[in-house]
Amino acid sequence: MPTTLVPTRLVSPRLVSPVRENQAQDSLSTAPYSEKVAAFLQEGHETPFVVVDLEVVAERYDALHAALPEADIFYAVKANPAPEILNTLLERGSSFDVASPGEIDMVLAAGATPDQISYGNTIKKQRDIAGAYRQGVRIFAFDSEAELAKLVAEAPGSLVFCRILCNGEGADWPLSRKFGCETEEAERLLLMAADAGFEVGVSFHVGSQQRDVHAWDGALAEISSLARRLLDEGVTLSVVNIGGGFPGTYLDPMRPVENYAKAIRAALQRHLEPLFGPIGGVNFPRIIAEPGRYMVADAGVLQTEVVLVSKKHVLDDRRWVYLDVGKFGGLAETMDEAIRYRLRTPHDGQMAGNVTIAGPTCDSADVLYEKTDYRLPLALEAGDLVEVLSTGAYTTTYSAIGFNGFAPLRAYCV
Ligand SMILES: *Cc1c(COP(=O)(O)O)cnc(C)c1O
Repeated sequence: MPTTLVPTRLVSPRLVSPVRENQAQDSLSTAPYSEKVAAFLQEGHETPFVVVDLEVVAERYDALHAALPEADIFYAVKANPAPEILNTLLERGSSFDVASPGEIDMVLAAGATPDQISYGNTIKKQRDIAGAYRQGVRIFAFDSEAELAKLVAEAPGSLVFCRILCNGEGADWPLSRKFGCETEEAERLLLMAADAGFEVGVSFHVGSQQRDVHAWDGALAEISSLARRLLDEGVTLSVVNIGGGFPGTYLDPMRPVENYAKAIRAALQRHLEPLFGPIGGVNFPRIIAEPGRYMVADAGVLQTEVVLVSKKHVLDDRRWVYLDVGKFGGLAETMDEAIRYRLRTPHDGQMAGNVTIAGPTCDSADVLYEKTDYRLPLALEAGDLVEVLSTGAYTTTYSAIGFNGFAPLRAYCV
């Protein structure tokens, strides 16, 4: 188990037991959270809530920075915008990828300077671009001619980067065709952008929770030929933004971030050094990475209470376990069972059986897992507290504001 994937201080091994027999080895051998978090979980806060360990966030930043020092880290704020997290990352020297005026305000309120902000959403209102520019933001994303026209109107002299399409293969949470354009279109748009006096760059995102450490290679190969054609036209790419996609720890084991960094560095060297000279050299483009999930997922633990354990027929062996958190209470990424969280119960290690796991609301879509082979202890009953691990990313802000009268997911940082 690489030290980067677990907190340094561990709870006692007695607390650690498998949820299912075939669960990833690495989650069996080490406790999933620090003593500080363990103590907080014992305090009896009203469920459901997420508690985030800021030390883990800091460790993740340091680990990625150490593994890939060539890249400037812009934390993707949408993963978890808690002020304590922004502060922690700011102290480490992080910059921030934002998607809206609200996120810009949050990052500035945390004490970041405008040059630490990249407005990475390719879909922005023109007045929001103007507002960001007035606040001093000078890095903007686009992927279409119409969006570029807004930047020409409102953000002169900025660095603008064009996002190219990525198929998202290998990712558990792919980002599909919503963002990015074909490479040929990017070439046309970047020539227009350079003509308009912008400094230009290119970006891509390999899809969130990317399993394949080599997923960056294909996009960088395409960027290499794009950069070559642009150079022929007298335009130099000054930034290559390699996006996010670095994983959190869910049911299936993932490679440590060092492996990702190594594969990405090799791809940067293979595809860009022939054009720009050595990585880190004066002519090499600035490399930006935008990790979201990786930075915060494993720092969070969600505590939930079992509301009901039932069967559809007394002879069924499958039980339905209803928790006080569901798809509308922050676990939206269970959509299509894409993100499969690790669970811990007070009875782990005892006899377990098949379950369907669902949330508490009166919406039939509020089922978390029925296809995935989850097994929970037979002793599990209403009132038991269950921990949903690695819930620091994409949970608190996905929580509805009061569907069915349930309060939004509470959030704490320790
Ligand atoms: C969401 C997002 C990220 C973060 O992605 P992760 O997979 O969570 O690392 C990075 N860049 C952009 C533009 C995003 O929209």
